[in-house]
Amino acid sequence: MYWNLFGTCLAGRQVCYLIIGILSSFKNYFCIKKNLASIKFIGTGSGRTSLKRNHSSLLISVENYNLLVDAGDGVSKALLSLKVDYNSIDGILFSHLHPDHYTGLPSLIVQMKMNKREKDLKIFIHEGLQNIIQDFIYRSYLFPEKLKFEINFEKFVENKTVTVSDSLNFIAKQNSHLDEYLTFADKEKLSFFSPSFLFNTGGKNIYYSGDISSKEDMYLFSDYKLDLMISEITHIEMKDLIEAFRKLNPKKLFLTHIGEKDENSFINIKKSLTANECNRILLASDGFIINLQHKPDPNL
Ligand SMILES: [Zn+2]
Repeated sequence: MYWNLFGTCLAGRQVCYLIIGILSSFKNYFCIKKNLASIKFIGTGSGRTSLKRNHSSLLISVENYNLLVDAGDGVSKALLSLKVDYNSIDGILFSHLHPDHYTGLPSLIVQMKMNKREKDLKIFIHEGLQNIIQDFIYRSYLFPEKLKFEINFEKFVENKTVTVSDSLNFIAKQNSHLDEYLTFADKEKLSFFSPSFLFNTGGKNIYYSGDISSKEDMYLFSDYKLDLMISEITHIEMKDLIEAFRKLNPKKLFLTHIGEKDENSFINIKKSLTANECNRILLASDGFIINLQHKPDPNL
């Protein structure tokens, strides 16, 4: 009888282990499926200062990591107006060094300091631009000894995958945005890096044009299946953009870096789009959020 009782207990324990195993598999399944990711447009304006739109910037949030892409003129006020806690930002990625994309950095660091930030801030920057950014911070009197948090630099080169967090990475590829300057300055002394990006999170490929200058820039990641595209529209003809959308066929295309004329050209070209294309090509606005979770938008 004792043996029977012992046997029953053992069997009971095995059943318990089995149930725990099944529950843990479900937990893993749902954790993988539940990819908490979103992209919030902090600014959708062009290089021209506007009362309607902030300068171009994105906040990519994946699980518990928040990556700010570009921090141009006025970014602190833009974040404040969109109720983004400065200290929720874990990393800042810079595309290139036009003022509408980077000059808000020292002021943003000051806001973080005044908001008693203690956690490290990571800056993702091309290897050719790191010294400029470091110097910019230093010359703004933001000495490491005066900050209660560390600023760490993660240098990157083009064509290599950069890990941002467990669930977010990107590849940068040089585009033609700054090519027009090459004749004016010493290429040895000044870096002209300006990339487009491919972000990957939860298996989804997201193309972000950054600032570009030619339609060829739209195809830098054409080897990949693009789930989503985010493109600027100031420096590209609308017809070329629509052509790229049709060829690359992402589920959705969001337009940003919008000047007043760009808005009108989008309204005009919309008349030539099919109903399906109209639903898939959207003009972003400041504060607009793309939800990358499986629900509620099954198309993303
Ligand atoms: Zn710009």
